[in-house]
Amino acid sequence: MNIKMVDLNSQYLKIKEEVDQSISNILESTAFINGPAVKCFQSNLEKYLGTANVIPCGNGTDALQIAMMALGLKPGDEVITTTFTFIATAEVIALLGLTPVLVDVDENTYNIDIEAIKRAITNKTKAIVPVHLFGQCAPMEEIMAIAKQHNLFVIEDNAQAIGADYYFSDGSTKKSGTIGHIGCTSFFPSKNLGAYGDGGAIFTDDNTIAEQLRAVVNHGMKVRYYHDFIGVNSRLDTIQAAILDVKLKHLDEYANARRKAAAFYDNAFANNPKLSTPFRYSKSSHVFHQYTMTIKNVDRLNLQKFLNDHGIPMMIYYPVPIHLQKAYADARYKKGDFPISEKLSESVISLPMHTELDENQLKYITEKVLEFIN
Ligand SMILES: *Cc1c(COP(=O)(O)O)cnc(C)c1O
Repeated sequence: MNIKMVDLNSQYLKIKEEVDQSISNILESTAFINGPAVKCFQSNLEKYLGTANVIPCGNGTDALQIAMMALGLKPGDEVITTTFTFIATAEVIALLGLTPVLVDVDENTYNIDIEAIKRAITNKTKAIVPVHLFGQCAPMEEIMAIAKQHNLFVIEDNAQAIGADYYFSDGSTKKSGTIGHIGCTSFFPSKNLGAYGDGGAIFTDDNTIAEQLRAVVNHGMKVRYYHDFIGVNSRLDTIQAAILDVKLKHLDEYANARRKAAAFYDNAFANNPKLSTPFRYSKSSHVFHQYTMTIKNVDRLNLQKFLNDHGIPMMIYYPVPIHLQKAYADARYKKGDFPISEKLSESVISLPMHTELDENQLKYITEKVLEFIN
């Protein structure tokens, strides 16, 4: 059995004809930079998300950086984010000379903790960056209320949750990434909406912010060759946009396939005292970027080795929280400061999760996990 963490090849084969055709159209048109396919994908994504503006860019890390630049954040400004995330979230804050203020997460959802955000706010705080980790939304309604009260921007790191729905207490629903002032996403190949190379996008309902974002991605330029401020060069490649446009039509079906695999895992691991299957947050759908659970009284590295020896990949997302990363060593933080994130980093495992997992594979994976831990 050929089990992959993410099976992009089998997924491609199902849409090969349409993808190959759209790539060859671009090769023939030679509209490689900002070709019509970029506009077309942008507008289809706006419709899908129900947002006024999608600004495509080079990758998800750029998206976060551009968002902070467009909001005019300045060195010394504090930006609150989670310590339990992929490094990019904190990296761009540090890179821009802003001050990352790290906080702990909720032990069930692994997402940023609301009370911890409240405690971290100072008169220098300018923005909050919640991450919708592993495919499930952070508590956006509460975060937006805190932001409103303290006049802060909210930038959603939606790299792992595109397509997820957030349910407000008044019964309304919004797509993840369209709730804060700005949403950022990545089209890295293994993400839920993955290109065949790098890509990213920024979302906002605010037309003034959108205008600023469009200038930042394009060298700080609103009128050609007049540069009002320092920007960057960050574009979504036309070929990637065409591929993403094909895949966008399948995004909901892909999420369902992931949920089906997750349900199989849940069922197989239910009531096992050594395994805590992923918690479902009632205010969000789950698009399962990862199937990540915690283990107890199990030797994690030996489990990984056992699974690998049986042809099953297993990953650890993430083994070190940001505040314990060498590059982010900071006198403000020490081991023990964020106990939930620290405990998670020692006890999480992620099993294969993609759109092409079949029952035979799932059966084999779950049997082998249970064989090792029981
Ligand atoms: C993947 C990811 C990013 C960065 O996206 P790239 O396209 O690889 O730059 C940022 N934040 C999170 C949470 C991610 O998972």
